[in-house]
Amino acid sequence: MPASPRISLASAVFDRVLRQARIAGQPEPVDIAIAGERIARIAPGIASDAPSEDLGGRFACAGFVETHVHLDKACILDRCAICEGTLAEAVAQSARAKAGFTEEDVLARAEHVMARAIGHGTTVMRSFCEVDPRAGLRSFDALRALRAAHAHAVDLEICAFAQDGLTQEMETYRLLDAACAAGADLVGGCPYTDPDPARHIALVFDLADRYGLRVDFHLDFNLAPESSNLDAVLRETARRGYGGRVSVGHVTQLSAQPTAAVDRIAARMADHGVALTVLPATDLFLMGRGIDRLVPRGVAPAHRMAELGVTTSIATNNVMNPFTPFGDASLLRMANLYANILQVAQDDAVDRVFAMITADAARLLGRDAHRLAEGGPADIVVLDAPDARTALREIAPTWAGWKRGRPNFRRPPVVLAPPPA
Ligand SMILES: [Zn+2]
Repeated sequence: MPASPRISLASAVFDRVLRQARIAGQPEPVDIAIAGERIARIAPGIASDAPSEDLGGRFACAGFVETHVHLDKACILDRCAICEGTLAEAVAQSARAKAGFTEEDVLARAEHVMARAIGHGTTVMRSFCEVDPRAGLRSFDALRALRAAHAHAVDLEICAFAQDGLTQEMETYRLLDAACAAGADLVGGCPYTDPDPARHIALVFDLADRYGLRVDFHLDFNLAPESSNLDAVLRETARRGYGGRVSVGHVTQLSAQPTAAVDRIAARMADHGVALTVLPATDLFLMGRGIDRLVPRGVAPAHRMAELGVTTSIATNNVMNPFTPFGDASLLRMANLYANILQVAQDDAVDRVFAMITADAARLLGRDAHRLAEGGPADIVVLDAPDARTALREIAPTWAGWKRGRPNFRRPPVVLAPPPA
């Protein structure tokens, strides 16, 4: 911890002390002292007359990291019809709906989802934002307003995103360029909707390269590995020296591959520095359509690939739209869903899955050291459970959260009524 005269004094120099917290790597409960926006001290029995709060042995962590959500097209079930439940239908339905989006409309729906996410302990978020002739820059402007209005609560990064193809509609490229110039944090593409996937990938990299941004692709979103575009992404990553700044989402084709093939792909992704995000709710909902028995799950085995060196995360993707007509933006629930689908049981594997919504997810975004530490930001989320693995197994409710030392939310615990007299 950097030396600081302010916190070297014995007491009365902290703004707040959270007492009796269980944290990762500490066998016994500790106190967490906050000074300004930072964690000043972590130790048992900190002497201080600053306001304090007893966490009662609950687990505290640095909060959940959402690596992949679409705030711009969340909560639009009222203007879409789901008949087939296929990916093609979802793309077509949301493309039609977004032509009618207004900035106020996007902001209101995005704020609703963000409020849910904050209450579920999310402190960092990457949202995709469709920028094309139908949406124009309206959704982008709305998410920029959202980012500014909620900067105290969530670190939001906005990915200017080509959902509906690029090479057949180059106006989208010009709008992406404008969004990058206007402050998009990264740029994303979706080769599977483009008639020329390889050129789509190269164009998205061109933009990223020009503005010095990271890239994120929706990739290989079917169960037919022979149609993979991963090679094109790996090639561009290597050619441009982009390792560590590239992520791909879905890659459901991996769930249709034998283990040996998945391991070979994992080794190449790790070697190239290309990270993977799985979206269990959407992948489950959209994959395996048209199959009436033994329906495939369609979720890539990301925790296995993490063991082989791939940076991986589990994320929400869509909430209440034709891609996923459910959702509450709870990453702990999503990690629990993933663990169920992938039949994760052992303690160390459950810990690995928890990392995919915390430390590993932060690394995917290029943020290191996402943990509670002296000198680090006072981003603290308390779960009503004694440790991470119990929290994930139970989908434990959040209890309270602080962002940069400031109270962010509080969730009153359920109180059961007494039995009748
Ligand atoms: Zn997505």
